[in-house]
Amino acid sequence: MEKQAAECARKAYLSGRSRPLQFRLQQLHALYRLITEKEAEISAALKKDINRSQYDTPLFELIGLENDLKLAQSSLSDWAAPRPAKKNLLTLSDQVYTQAEPLGVVLIIGAWNYPWALTLQPLIGAIAAGNAAVVKPSELSKHSSSLLKELLPQYLDQEMYPVVTGGVPETQELLQQRFDHIFYTGNSTVGKLVMEAAARHLTPVTLELGGKSPCYIDKDCDMSVACRRITWGKFANCGQTCIAPDYILCEPGIQDRVVQEIQRTLLEFYGEDPKCSLDYGRIINQHHFDRVMALLEGNAAAIEGKNDREECYIAPTILRDVSPHSRLMQEEIFGPVLPIVPIGGVDEAIRFINDREKPLALYVFSQDKKVIKRMLSETSSGGVTVNDVFMHYTVNSLPFGGVGNSGIGSYHGKHTFDRLSHHKTCLVKSLAMEGMNQVRYPPQNAVHLKR
Ligand code: NAD
Repeated sequence: MEKQAAECARKAYLSGRSRPLQFRLQQLHALYRLITEKEAEISAALKKDINRSQYDTPLFELIGLENDLKLAQSSLSDWAAPRPAKKNLLTLSDQVYTQAEPLGVVLIIGAWNYPWALTLQPLIGAIAAGNAAVVKPSELSKHSSSLLKELLPQYLDQEMYPVVTGGVPETQELLQQRFDHIFYTGNSTVGKLVMEAAARHLTPVTLELGGKSPCYIDKDCDMSVACRRITWGKFANCGQTCIAPDYILCEPGIQDRVVQEIQRTLLEFYGEDPKCSLDYGRIINQHHFDRVMALLEGNAAAIEGKNDREECYIAPTILRDVSPHSRLMQEEIFGPVLPIVPIGGVDEAIRFINDREKPLALYVFSQDKKVIKRMLSETSSGGVTVNDVFMHYTVNSLPFGGVGNSGIGSYHGKHTFDRLSHHKTCLVKSLAMEGMNQVRYPPQNAVHLKR
C-alpha cells in the first residue's frame, strides 16, 4: 500500500503533468475550495479528535492555509520565473540565472496537534513547486486523518497526491521508499529516525520539530498584558502547540504576581470550570494524558483542578518555584501545564537558555530595549516573538522553522516553494564570439591573462 502510493506518485510525476503552472494553479485552487467548502466537516473532525473549539479551528489552522493558498496562486508566476544573477567578465553576453524546478516526489509526514495545517501547508509548497507528494497524516488525530484521506482525492489529482493513513509500521514502510524530499513534522526522536532513513537514499529533509520554548518575563513590563498573552498561548489547543511557551523564567520577586495574573486570565477565558468551557480542549489520548501526569509527579501546583483520565482532561496547571532539575524541565511538556522557574535576572535567563537545546520559539516580555536586544542577540532559537506569543508564526513572509534540536529547514509562503524546489544554476551562451574565449585555451603563452 505504502510502496504503491510512492510508485503511483512517481509515475504521475514522471508523466510531466505537474510541471505546467496552469496545472499547479488549478490544484491550488481546488485545495482552496476544499478548505473553504469543508470547513464545517474539518471543525467537526477536530472537535472529535481534540475537543477543538469551532472558533479556534479557523484561527489556528484554516486562515493560515487560506492565506498561503492565496499567496501561492497570486505569486506563482513570479516565484517560478528565472532569477537573473550577477555576471562576471567572461559571461557578460550570456544569460546567467537560476531556474526553480521541482524536486520530484515529496513525502509529507504530519503530526496530530494541528493535523490540517501541518500536512496541507507543506503540500501547498509541494504543489506550487510542481512536485508530486505522498501525504501521511498522523494516526493519532484519527478523525481528521480519515477525513483528509476521503476529501483530498475528491479535490486534487489523486495519483499525484495520494494519502496514506496508518501508524508507525506504515510510516516505516514509507520511509523505505525513495523520495526526493521528506518533510516531517513531529518530535525530535522520530526526526532522527526519519533523517537516518532519508540518508540511505541521500534524500534531503525538512524536520519541523519541537522542544522547550522558554518565556522570559522581565520585572519591567506590564504584567497583566504579558500574562494574558502567555495564558492564551499556553492553553490554546490544551497546550499541545509546538510553539507554546513551555515554561516561564522570571525573578522570584514577581512570581506571585505572575501566578495571580494567570489565574485571573484563566477565569476570564475558561470560567470557573474549564472542563465545561467550549474553548478548552482535551489531551489527544490517554497515553499522552499519562505522560503529562508523570511529568507532574513530585511537584506541588499553585493552580490546578480535578483531572479526568477517561475524558483526557487536564485542568490548567501552574507550578511555582520549579527546580531546573525536575523532570518537568527535562522534556517538552506539550500539555496545559506551566512551570515557573525563578532566576536571578536577564544574565541568568540567557545562561539558562543557552545551557539547553536550541528551542523552536523564544518569548521575551519586557519594556527595556536593552533586555530585548540582549535576549535577541545572545540566545539562539528557531524564531522569537517579543511581547507576545505565536505571532512570528502567522507572518507568511517570514520563514518558520527550528534550529539545532528544534529542526532543520523552514517554510511558509514563498519559503515552502523555495524549500521544495531545486534552484538550478543556468548559463546560456551563444556559439558566436569564439574569439573572446581565446584567453582560456592552451597554450597559455598565446595571451597574457591579466589578473
Ligand atoms: P505524532 O505522534 O503524530 O508523530 C508524527 C508523525 O510521525 C506521525 O505521522 C507518525 O505516524 C509518525 N511516527 C511516529 N512514530 C514513528 C516512528 N517510530 N517511525 C516512523 N514514523 C513515526 O506526533 P508527535 O511526534 O507526538 O508530535 C508532537 C511533537 O511535534 C512535539 O514535539 C511538537 O513540538 C512537534 N511539532 C512541531 C511542529 C513544528 O512546526 N515545528 C508542529 C507541530 C508539532
